[in-house]
Amino acid sequence: MDYASLASGSKGNCHAIHHHGTVLLIDAGLSLRQVERRLNLIGWDIGWVQGIAITHEHNDHISALPVLLRNTAWVFLLTEQTKKAIESKTRIVIPDHRWVPLKSGSSLSFGSWTIQPFSLPHDAVDPVAFRVEREGQSLAIITDLGHISETVRQSCAGVETLVIESNYDEQMLIEGPYTPELKARILSRVGHLSNEDTAGLLSSMDTSRLNRVVLAHLSEENNHAELARSSAMLALQHAPRARIFIADQHHPVLSST
Ligand SMILES: [Zn+2]
Ligand SMILES: [Zn+2]
Repeated sequence: MDYASLASGSKGNCHAIHHHGTVLLIDAGLSLRQVERRLNLIGWDIGWVQGIAITHEHNDHISALPVLLRNTAWVFLLTEQTKKAIESKTRIVIPDHRWVPLKSGSSLSFGSWTIQPFSLPHDAVDPVAFRVEREGQSLAIITDLGHISETVRQSCAGVETLVIESNYDEQMLIEGPYTPELKARILSRVGHLSNEDTAGLLSSMDTSRLNRVVLAHLSEENNHAELARSSAMLALQHAPRARIFIADQHHPVLSST
């Protein structure tokens, strides 16, 4: 299963998975022009996109949604609560024929994939992450969560590709420029994952089939790619086959099987 991060971070998020000329996007935090440009950069075509799954209603995940709704024929996969939150926030309506309802804990087929949404501890109405499977291959994309819940741990067990948030270095966040309120929000049980939180998952999860780890949603203010990478590398000493990639805010990062 081919995976690419098109954009990742607090200024906008969009992931893509590809199989045989079909692309599913995850999150709508990147303009249509940039989606097209970044897909082209990795040799994929915007005409391959069939749908876009949305994790939650925070702006960095939905800012381009109104334009994508107007200017494409894609379907939108999201939970009912997230749909309502987006509709009231953006004053748009996602019509029924463009909506594929999701429910955490219930898997569904989309193209050749089986998509399993599962809930996350994050300060949004109904935030989800996704495990995606196809012919025995599996991938999980997990960002925007304040701690590793048991559901998260179970949902990423045995995957080959894990895209996981590694948002901040705790010391940089604490000593950094954010207001006390924002720091407290990020540090909370429903905020974001630190490099250390992510390392805790990597060192204790089932890595028997893990060969790619993509560190995602890194804070530009409170983290450095090399800090996140070295923390994950240490945690993955027992999984030497796993290669580490860092998703980027401004450039696509491709990791094909
Ligand atoms: Zn986010
Ligand atoms: Zn969020």
